Amino acid sequence: MKVELVSITPNAEDLIERACRTCYLSFDRYDPPKSTAELIRKVIRKGHHSVLEHASATFRIKGGSRVFTHELVRHRFVSPSQESQRYVCYADKPDRKKTKDFEYQIPETVKKSGSEQVFQDGAEAAYNLYEELLSKGVPPEDARYILPNATTSEIVITANFREFRHLFAVRCQPRAHWEIREVCLQMLTIMKREAPTVFCDFILDEDNVCASIDPGKLQA
Ligand SMILES: Cc1cc2nc3c(=O)[nH]c(=O)nc-3n(C[C@H](O)[C@H](O)[C@H](O)COP(=O)(O)OP(=O)(O)OC[C@H]3O[C@@H](n4cnc5c(N)ncnc54)[C@H](O)[C@@H]3O)c2cc1C
Repeated sequence: MKVELVSITPNAEDLIERACRTCYLSFDRYDPPKSTAELIRKVIRKGHHSVLEHASATFRIKGGSRVFTHELVRHRFVSPSQESQRYVCYADKPDRKKTKDFEYQIPETVKKSGSEQVFQDGAEAAYNLYEELLSKGVPPEDARYILPNATTSEIVITANFREFRHLFAVRCQPRAHWEIREVCLQMLTIMKREAPTVFCDFILDEDNVCASIDPGKLQA
């Protein structure tokens, strides 16, 4: 899976500090970068998280399955734009060339179980039927019913920093499903670089397979 940062609020942490100082009219204490880091840690500690909504980021994610995208779009403050299986066509049809090749994810557990070939045969059989339906004039929006959940789907998402903190808290932990966890870990790594204070309490484990929250990192 490929995760790319498309856009992010410029000087995001500075914007958050200035928005926050409006609440208290405390611009006399504006002394970045020290005041920025101190104030952001303080508001997160105290649960004054709405100020984090002033900054947002947009990611393009390629190679994830429809299983993963379905989990991602359940998050109500994540704005998605996703590859449409109505308009994107994975096989030639009588009046049109295909938009892209049919691709799908194979979970590691399937590979380790020795079932990779069976899995591929099943996916290819579904695809062959999809292709046949298109050749008989069934539109992609109906032929897609036969495609597996494993089918990959490109998606662009935008969310504010408050929602990213929530997303990482619930989807970077070991109980989250591996695919959304892998994507969220990649996004977290980028966000820790782009907004180090806002995400300072998220700690990636040594193997980079999950992240935990260390409230101690928010202390002054
Ligand atoms: C480990 C795990 C297992 C899961 N298993 C299942 C499952 O088996 N079946 C299933 O259907 N789903 C499952 N989900 C998905 C889950 O139910 C949610 O749909 C998903 O996590 C997105 O919702 P959210 O509450 O996390 O917050 P978001 O939609 O990301 O919203 C962020 C926050 O905003 C607030 N918020 C948003 N909407 C409201 C509202 N209407 N009222 C009050 N506060 C609101 C809440 O504080 C919320 O936490 C699972 C999620 C996880 C992380």
